[in-house]
Amino acid sequence: MDELSELASQGLLRQLRPCSAPTAGEIFMDGKRLLNFSSNDYLGLSRHPTLIEAAEEALHQYGTGASASRLVTGSRNIFHDLEDFIAESKKTEAALSFANGYSTAMGTIPALVGKGDTVILDKLSHACLIDASRLSGATLRVFPHNDLNKLERLLQTAKGRALIVTESVFSMDGDRAPLKEICQLKNQYGAELLLDEAHALGVLGQEGQGLAEELGLQAQVDFQMGTLGKAVGSAGGYLATSRKQINLLINKARSFIYSTAPPPSQAAASLAGLELIRSEEGRLLRDTLAKHIAYFGASSAIIPIIIGENDATLAASERLKKAGYLVYAIRYPTVARGTARLRVTLSAAHQEEDLEGLKKLLSL
Ligand SMILES: *Cc1c(COP(=O)(O)O)cnc(C)c1O
Repeated sequence: MDELSELASQGLLRQLRPCSAPTAGEIFMDGKRLLNFSSNDYLGLSRHPTLIEAAEEALHQYGTGASASRLVTGSRNIFHDLEDFIAESKKTEAALSFANGYSTAMGTIPALVGKGDTVILDKLSHACLIDASRLSGATLRVFPHNDLNKLERLLQTAKGRALIVTESVFSMDGDRAPLKEICQLKNQYGAELLLDEAHALGVLGQEGQGLAEELGLQAQVDFQMGTLGKAVGSAGGYLATSRKQINLLINKARSFIYSTAPPPSQAAASLAGLELIRSEEGRLLRDTLAKHIAYFGASSAIIPIIIGENDATLAASERLKKAGYLVYAIRYPTVARGTARLRVTLSAAHQEEDLEGLKKLLSL
């Protein structure tokens, strides 16, 4: 059997589905309007007029493309404005932006550690964190999800520079890392921490900066990473840290150096999204999202409903679709075999009646 038929026979085949999204909370797919409970647009900013306007203005000012790598002639002012704002928000000396979160990890981790060093990863870390750690050539050590005892044992035996890598809110489970305890261990053993706030930026903290801000731990996190494509409503990724480390990344991060800078309009939309997140309007959107999360009795905007079997999960997703709700089935290798799940994501853009309907269908 060929590879594709094999995937299909295991219920693991993935296919693209063309769609359009006239508003942040809904989507048109297969000729049908669906309520979108599968996007990471937690605040509904991807359709926000302020972001669209900022992108439009930048399109006229800068054109469609940056025309070269940031290090050649691509370093348009707007990227520097974006990075200054990120650094200020993250309370770091400097920040660097990338085309997306994936390339942020791929550029950063191999620039920081290499052969003779150790990366210590939470088992449920995102694929880009795993791929980047592998690419670095450092020794890879994995601890069971949020297992502090095992993390400590790995820290005791780590060789070279030790970099702990984890997420603040986990992408497929919606739970949080025990950040305070991880910071204590990291300090005790002289290790460093890279924290991926992909699903916490915009959602947690008074200023919407994520879990580290909420817990007052921003100064403890050596490398604050995130994406600008989820709650920020644009696209891109960032790494916030000391000026010295950023200078090193500018010289060593290959995904940054050897790639054309992203469209300046993308940076403009990102900056507008980040500004909005820190504004009063952002706070109100976070309050609305928090209400939606509380309505489901969930601990974050990500609600995993673990079914187990691939085919049963696909069938459940199909039933919800027939009822007008888009909730994707998440399968191996995104999650472990036997833990296929529906992944419901909530947004401030959803209406209360939409939440009621879905809650009934899921009988939560
Ligand atoms: C989505 C995601 C990324 C990748 O970010 P993109 O901007 O989508 O490339 C990185 N880390 C985590 C935890 C994510 O969920």
